[in-house]
Amino acid sequence: MSGEELLRLAGSRATRHAPFGSRTTYRVGGTSFMFLDIASLDDLLELGVALSQCGLPVCSLGNGSNLLVADGEFPGVVVKLGEAFRSLVFTGDESVTVHAGAALDLPVAARRLSDQGIVGFEWAVGVPGTFGGAVVMNAGGHGGDMAASVTGVRLWSVPAARVIERTAKELQFGYRHSSVSHEEIVLDVTMQLRRGDALASKGQLKEIVRWRREHQPGGANAGSVFRNPVANSAGQLIDAAGLKGYRVGGAHVSEKHANFIQVDEGARASDVRELMAYVATTVEAVTGVRLESEVRTVGFSSEDA
Ligand SMILES: Cc1cc2nc3c(=O)[nH]c(=O)nc-3n(C[C@H](O)[C@H](O)[C@H](O)COP(=O)(O)OP(=O)(O)OC[C@H]3O[C@@H](n4cnc5c(N)ncnc54)[C@H](O)[C@@H]3O)c2cc1C
Repeated sequence: MSGEELLRLAGSRATRHAPFGSRTTYRVGGTSFMFLDIASLDDLLELGVALSQCGLPVCSLGNGSNLLVADGEFPGVVVKLGEAFRSLVFTGDESVTVHAGAALDLPVAARRLSDQGIVGFEWAVGVPGTFGGAVVMNAGGHGGDMAASVTGVRLWSVPAARVIERTAKELQFGYRHSSVSHEEIVLDVTMQLRRGDALASKGQLKEIVRWRREHQPGGANAGSVFRNPVANSAGQLIDAAGLKGYRVGGAHVSEKHANFIQVDEGARASDVRELMAYVATTVEAVTGVRLESEVRTVGFSSEDA
């Protein structure tokens, strides 16, 4: 089974040489050999064997808010989940079980849950990703993270071409880490939350949004570029190395938050990548601390998402 056969089988669900980098929040980077719109689980059931046997690398795309895509063409299949994966269902009185589709946006869920007086997910209102990307990254902030409430997920295993379930323990959540591999597509997520004070919850949402506006830059970026080293802040280290405002081509270190890279229109992914390397090298030379990337990269020669 080849990529060409998968293209034929997928019909209008597949696009050849489709934009990829422009679908990320950096808005830089090239195309992918194939872009696959997966509207529902039926699509995966129908195309799964071909996807597993075509021999092409697979990259799941959420909102692209933690992804740097290389210039040129990613020689694989980008999988994007559609509408059927945007559901939000909750049951229970005091303790509430929440099922969220992997393509649902975190801020949308945070607000809808808060409206219902379901509390504990407010932290997610400022994270512009999907549940799929958030589980993979164990996204978090403001004292919360996915690990705190996720009890399990359903995944599509690309090699096995079938749905598998994984418990929170099996997900091995760590700081911006989970065990989900690039050959697995998160389909939906189960969380345990609780009923609480809806008014206080609304106040929390408002405060988080205010804090983010005050402390984080707008424009094209992917949030924090580097993971915070133990007992340290990547932003403070970058600032201490005198790198605020430092520029490579169309990418520069934000003046507002040193751990953000902002990208101008017309920039290249290689500008961002080179700036990341320069920042890491300089911070290590100045402070002795080696920074690690939090942003996932795809299509570059030495690394992959
Ligand atoms: C302004 C801004 C603020 C941010 N603030 C925060 C923050 O406070 N805390 C934080 O943790 N992050 C933050 N981020 C980063 C980002 O929003 C999170 O990491 C988010 O969880 C990524 O979700 P996504 O859907 O955009 O994933 P993508 O960027 O699309 O993908 C990220 C990774 O997950 C994989 N992936 C995506 N969907 C699936 C799926 N369904 N199945 C399997 N793999 C998948 C991708 O292949 C990739 O490896 C911020 C980003 C921005 C732009």
